[in-house]
Amino acid sequence: MLVWYAIAGTEKVITMAKIIQKHDECIGCGACVAIDPDNWKMNGDKADLIDAVVEGDTQTKEVEDLGNSKEAAASCPVNCITVEE
Ligand code: SF4
Repeated sequence: MLVWYAIAGTEKVITMAKIIQKHDECIGCGACVAIDPDNWKMNGDKADLIDAVVEGDTQTKEVEDLGNSKEAAASCPVNCITVEE
């Protein structure tokens, strides 16, 4: 997704990526937390996407910088993390 904004007469285009987790499918292995602690934290027996929008069993977060998100998604043994660029 592209986001346009203007500050002090300058215009900048930001490309936002999206991290999506099917929360109900998480088995709480902790791999995403170990690899990408800026975006993931354990909450009981499952991982939460930090500052995510929660809709039903899906957690979604838009980020400008993916950081280690792709590595975290690749590490998930049940493939419940998706990264959209
Ligand atoms: S890697 Fe997948 S299964 Fe493991 S805690 Fe993270 S979201 Fe849950």
